[in-house]
Amino acid sequence: MPDNKTRLSFYGAAGTVTGSRYLLESAGRRILVDCGLFQGYKQLRLRNWAPLPFDPRTIDAVILTHAHIDHSGYLPVLTREGFRGSIYCSEATFELCKILLPDSAYLQEEDARFANRHGISKHQPALPLYTRSDASACLQQFRVAGIDDSVALGARNAFTLRRAGHLLGACFVRIECDGTSVTFTGDLGRPNDPVLMAPAAPPATDYLVTESTYGDREHPQIEPEAELARYLNPAIARGAVIVVPAFAIGRAQSLLLHIARLKRAGQIPDIPVFLDSPMAIDASGLYRRFMLEHRLDASDCDLMCGAATFVNTAEQSKTLDRQRGPMIIVSASGMATGGRVVHHLKTFIGNERNLILLTGFQAPGTRGGSLVNGASTLRIHGEDFPVRAEVRQLQASSSHADANEMVAWLKRFPEPPRRTFITHGEPGASDALRQRIERQLRWSTLVPEYRQTVELDA
Ligand SMILES: [Zn+2]
Repeated sequence: MPDNKTRLSFYGAAGTVTGSRYLLESAGRRILVDCGLFQGYKQLRLRNWAPLPFDPRTIDAVILTHAHIDHSGYLPVLTREGFRGSIYCSEATFELCKILLPDSAYLQEEDARFANRHGISKHQPALPLYTRSDASACLQQFRVAGIDDSVALGARNAFTLRRAGHLLGACFVRIECDGTSVTFTGDLGRPNDPVLMAPAAPPATDYLVTESTYGDREHPQIEPEAELARYLNPAIARGAVIVVPAFAIGRAQSLLLHIARLKRAGQIPDIPVFLDSPMAIDASGLYRRFMLEHRLDASDCDLMCGAATFVNTAEQSKTLDRQRGPMIIVSASGMATGGRVVHHLKTFIGNERNLILLTGFQAPGTRGGSLVNGASTLRIHGEDFPVRAEVRQLQASSSHADANEMVAWLKRFPEPPRRTFITHGEPGASDALRQRIERQLRWSTLVPEYRQTVELDA
């Protein structure tokens, strides 16, 4: 029996950083904010295969904060299982999803093919979570919403996207729903990122759902280029192959820009650099198209795009594994969960001369997470590879606000939200941010459990 209560349910990114899925029910409408893939620990990844806790056919609309797969990567399942409404997002997010979702589908298909070839699945045959045709069907349901425009969802609900400064097109969203309002931060960027714009000022809101990826940490005050040079130079001097698993969109481009600037300033030698990710190559062009989304000018964009040899085909990618250092291979995926970088790790991780340079957040349970934690072997395609290469993680390159930056942004709300829900963090990070918000801002908070539902008052 439908009633008139406004309800919010947390169907992902609760107790973890992946699988963002929030269901808002208001005035007879069911609105899903983000629909991401769970990544990391196996018990989380298994949730991608479990039936959804709601019927996709009953969802009226999806609002997508940004293109990262842990926010968008489950949309092809949602549409395949019967969701027929619109998926609203910014224009740049739509462009990035056109690149990311088919790629994610391809990786799913590859995993299934690999499992079938090597008989390592319990299922016969192993099937992909979704296919490239599921992904392209899903993209038909996307609708572009202008940043800062109010978009109506029926008579009593409306939403507005505002720039979050976390990735091209990334937004936070404020939803007005039947007499109350809820703001979802999505992933919040940083005030002084060298490439991306600062997050917009937050609007007054009754309820807030905030991410807490770095809720327990401050990013060190290091210049990204100085940090990069510190790791690269000794490795280059010993002839290393430097493998950089990088998120294909955003991270790969800012890394190339930093490398190009270091070379131009003579701070690192002019060694070969390869961008081995067709997705990253496509995304690089979007920086020229969306000039308002970032701080770079046309000459920075040229410098960035000219910084590396683009490696398009799988055949070219394989020849890199036969080349000698020093050279830099920037390749996806960022947490080494899939993609071409996994093959490069297999080839190069066993030699102590080489350097594996991790960038950005590495979710526990991923290969990147294991490397950050000092794993002595890395499991790839059912085999254990000894880790002898030097492993480093860049600290200065995060695209998420740290705890101080989060609190500084929260202080800009015109008035305290009635309640703040803290999500999208490992348990320690979410709880640390909860404590700071309660002590410093004296706001009412809740760290929701997975599948918890709360009622929102009008
Ligand atoms: Zn993100």
